[in-house]
Amino acid sequence: MKNKIIAGNWKMNNNRAQAIELINQLIPLVKDTNNTVIICVPFTDLCKAVKLTKGTNIHVGAQNCHWKESGAYTGEIAPSMLTEIGVEYVIIGHSERRSYFGETDQTVLLRTKAALAAGLKPIVCIGETLEERNSGNMESVLTRQVVEGFKDISAEELDNIIVAYEPVWAIGTGVTATDEQANDAIGFVRSVFAQKYGQEVANKLYIQYGGSMNDKNAQGLLSMPQIDGGLIGGASLVADKFSKVVNAHK
Ligand code: PEP
Repeated sequence: MKNKIIAGNWKMNNNRAQAIELINQLIPLVKDTNNTVIICVPFTDLCKAVKLTKGTNIHVGAQNCHWKESGAYTGEIAPSMLTEIGVEYVIIGHSERRSYFGETDQTVLLRTKAALAAGLKPIVCIGETLEERNSGNMESVLTRQVVEGFKDISAEELDNIIVAYEPVWAIGTGVTATDEQANDAIGFVRSVFAQKYGQEVANKLYIQYGGSMNDKNAQGLLSMPQIDGGLIGGASLVADKFSKVVNAHK
């Protein structure tokens, strides 16, 4: 049985003092879990988060990176800038980046490749909108996101990637997919990966659910066979709630 990978996405929240407080509260609350714990914090909190979590079981991730190593890309951060300060993970292609900042399957692929080359572990987000689901296009959208967004990713590279299935209609809305909806969608995503990489590789791949997962619904979602963990937004900002998600699955 796989352990679970639970990642918090702080988004654009927590200044330095709030970050320090939250991490210090979290450390003792998650120290006994067998699950992998990751916190993806704003760029300005990364150094502090790496320092505070040293010697603990909490890993640190960023929320984006660029595909170039350096150059005239104002406002962007290179993958090596993250690894050099001890960051291990990076979220790529979150739906908020796709909808507000023009992220496409092609830029997702570029960022993922660059992150892997620098030694980061990407958490690549995919997911359909409510309109896409209601119009019967969920499967075609997820297929496109996998086929295009992982175009020249090798099976070896896939080993270092986590996929987060996040239905856009469930992110930050308080509306969670039911355990069955999340399990079925992730099962479908896994079947698309299986077509490309074979069943064994697809079975090994970690696919998280994200979308209003919290201390109340985590146990049900994480007990589903296809769901290998969670990407948690709002509930990751409260140590008590996030630790309950981490500890929901023994
Ligand atoms: C997210 O930001 O990836 C997310 C799932 O947010 P929330 O848990 O707040 O829905």
